[in-house]
Amino acid sequence: MGEKISCSACCGIFNLKFNAAERTAWAQRNTEIFLALDLTKAENIVAYRKEREAETLPQRIRDDIYVCPFVGFVGTKNGSHIEQPPVACEPGASVRTGCLLHPQGSPHPQISLWEHPQNFSFYGEGICLSYDCLAKERQAFRADFFRWAEGADGHGGPGAAARTTRSLPQPLYAYGRLASDHTLHRTLAMLAMDSQDLSGFYTLLAELYETYSVVTTSFEDVEKVLPQSIEELCLFLARRIDAANAEQISALLSAAWHRHTADNKAS
Ligand code: SF4
Repeated sequence: MGEKISCSACCGIFNLKFNAAERTAWAQRNTEIFLALDLTKAENIVAYRKEREAETLPQRIRDDIYVCPFVGFVGTKNGSHIEQPPVACEPGASVRTGCLLHPQGSPHPQISLWEHPQNFSFYGEGICLSYDCLAKERQAFRADFFRWAEGADGHGGPGAAARTTRSLPQPLYAYGRLASDHTLHRTLAMLAMDSQDLSGFYTLLAELYETYSVVTTSFEDVEKVLPQSIEELCLFLARRIDAANAEQISALLSAAWHRHTADNKAS
């Protein structure tokens, strides 16, 4: 998680039958309710979890993936705790999602009353604090992915330049949708040249994931054999997006990829 970008995929944020605006409203509601809690009483946190789970769980796309109701907006400004959820703050303000129970990152001023606040969650602190997604753990991310992500937060940059005519994903979630895709990053690290800038490919893929409600969590199955070429990768991603239209989607991804290759040769 950076200053302006965040993921939250492993906490289940993409396993909701929501569009981007609804996802934002859900995280904002979590934040508002949680920030209003009196954390001196454990029962308030327990009741929050129960009530928000009851509202959240029926909205899941996949029943086998938990959606944690402690996902909220955790952006801080100048290191101080926020008093309002940061959505709709002035341009440049952080709109990061994250853990409302995090011992250091929670925006709730009373969080330090609890030594292990994440133990109020379904997974518990042992998992929440120690889990690292495979792409991050293996340092598989390319430098151009982070450059693209910094521009995908809605405040300009290469991601913004590439967003023109297609229906747009909520830029806030574009990074998280792709950051958790370990197969994508491990394959690109193996196949793509370091000098290539794949921003258009990332943007198209994030749009497709949003449009087709692809659930990424970072703990998907680890493929024993990674795709061995860009064409294989495009087909693999296309099947995940929509198996019924895989050939068509694969062709779109492949075309986006080859535009980069052509740009690279021209420069
Ligand atoms: S409690 Fe754990 S699963 Fe829930 S938001 Fe925090 S880190 Fe994610």
